[in-house]
Amino acid sequence: MINLKSVKNPMPEQEPEIRARNFKEVAEGYTPEMAVNEAMRCLKCRTKPCTKGCPVMIRIPDFVARIAEGDFEAAYQIISEDSALPRICGRVCPQENQCEGRCVRGIKGEPVSIGRLERFVSDWHAEHEDELKSVYGYEEASRMKDGSGKRVAVVGAGPAGLTCAGDLSAKGYAVTVYESLHKPGGVLAYGIPEFRLPKDIVAAEVKKLEDRGVKFICNAIIGRAESVDELISEEGFDAVFVGTGAGLPSFMNIPGENLLGVCSANEYLTRINLMKGYRDDYDTPVPEGTRVAVIGGGNVAMDAARCAMRMGAEKVYIIYRRSMDEIPARREEIHHAIQEGVDFQLLRNPVQIVGDEDGHVTGVEVVKMELGEPDASGRRKPVAVEGSNYILDVDEVIMAIGTRLNTLILDTTEDLEANRRGGIGTDDGAKTSREGIYAGGDAVTGAATVILAMGAGKTAAKSIDEYLKKKK
Ligand SMILES: Cc1cc2nc3c(=O)[nH]c(=O)nc-3n(C[C@H](O)[C@H](O)[C@H](O)COP(=O)(O)OP(=O)(O)OC[C@H]3O[C@@H](n4cnc5c(N)ncnc54)[C@H](O)[C@@H]3O)c2cc1C
Ligand code: SF4
Repeated sequence: MINLKSVKNPMPEQEPEIRARNFKEVAEGYTPEMAVNEAMRCLKCRTKPCTKGCPVMIRIPDFVARIAEGDFEAAYQIISEDSALPRICGRVCPQENQCEGRCVRGIKGEPVSIGRLERFVSDWHAEHEDELKSVYGYEEASRMKDGSGKRVAVVGAGPAGLTCAGDLSAKGYAVTVYESLHKPGGVLAYGIPEFRLPKDIVAAEVKKLEDRGVKFICNAIIGRAESVDELISEEGFDAVFVGTGAGLPSFMNIPGENLLGVCSANEYLTRINLMKGYRDDYDTPVPEGTRVAVIGGGNVAMDAARCAMRMGAEKVYIIYRRSMDEIPARREEIHHAIQEGVDFQLLRNPVQIVGDEDGHVTGVEVVKMELGEPDASGRRKPVAVEGSNYILDVDEVIMAIGTRLNTLILDTTEDLEANRRGGIGTDDGAKTSREGIYAGGDAVTGAATVILAMGAGKTAAKSIDEYLKKKK
């Protein structure tokens, strides 16, 4: 089944009508044969446009070539030079805007399925890790020599913090990660659902770090329990990395948002994912509507809508104020949501949520929108069509219109300066206005992507290493 054609080798998936009611992973992964076939579609472009599209510059044509030769471990080693979390990035990166968006194959057909190949080799490596260790002794090789006895605190156990902790521990530093929730992983653990990113993958990444000696202290809110300054002055850490994300939910400030049955996507997803509300053996309460409106068009909105479907809703709407051309979620998530029966109400904006005399949601009033001139973001600005309002009957509304930066660390750390976006200010090397304190990921940029957070964690680890080598 050699496929050198213009389309990708399709990904085996659970059937939409079955998967829409369960939390098992939707995409089942390529077989070795499919992966080799897909890799053979690569044109080995000398200019490597795909690599330029990857935020951490993975040597894509090189790893794809190793897959085409059937040397999956060599492919994995190439990816690992630049990516700390390939099993995760292969599943959740918005490849269409990054590597695959630049792939030359995409000009006249579909790009090489770089994300699926990344996922394939990193899953393959994980499955064969024990035998590989005995052959290659990777574990020993990854233990770096220059311990130097210095200690680093990492605040926040999302992709930025985990990557920074991993790189620093590999360099021999003693790393302690402080996490405010009861489990490490950040959005990977509490936000992205099991059917997109199985939690045993996140747990395995955390375990790898623990095996290397990284210490995790959960249920510890830095800025409340202890401040960043105290981590240095009282706990004796030589440097601190702050990767606290941007997890504060936003609301629209429209009438009716305080009705029973309205919640933030953040809370909804945390109850389902982190607190396992979808499982019968957990008694976490989850708001369960039969007709659910999810407001927003990003990954968070798709995740909330698809969770609502799986929690048993009869009807789920996505209400988004622009059109399908501007919708920001990953293409694959939109495609999967449509297949699973989510109803996209595009060019619609909620103006109020309506309820009954007991304070329960009964509907959401929306107004139709048209697209006007481009706004500051370069996207065409939605403008309300006067008199076009109508009410959608729903009994639950989930707000997924974006998240904000939490200012707790900025407010409680002396002389730590903010950037223009309200995040923690840093230079290109992740260094903040305070000596010895570094920051990265969503806490600096505002809500972004896993790979950017991971890249920021890597940059910070490099800067911290340079700083600590010079520090007396
Ligand atoms: C539902 C959802 C779906 C997403 N889907 C995708 C996707 O498909 N692809 C993609 O690339 N990106 C996606 N994103 C975005 C991506 O997950 C984030 O950009 C990324 O996780 C940011 O990583 P981070 O390490 O900076 O922060 P986070 O992942 O937010 O981790 C920060 C951690 O810090 C902890 N923390 C916060 N304050 C403190 C404190 N004071 N003390 C101690 N700990 C603290 C938090 O509890 C959290 O665990 C999604 C986001 C959400 C919410
Ligand atoms: S751009 Fe596409 S075809 Fe060219 S080297 Fe990269 S993956 Fe291969």
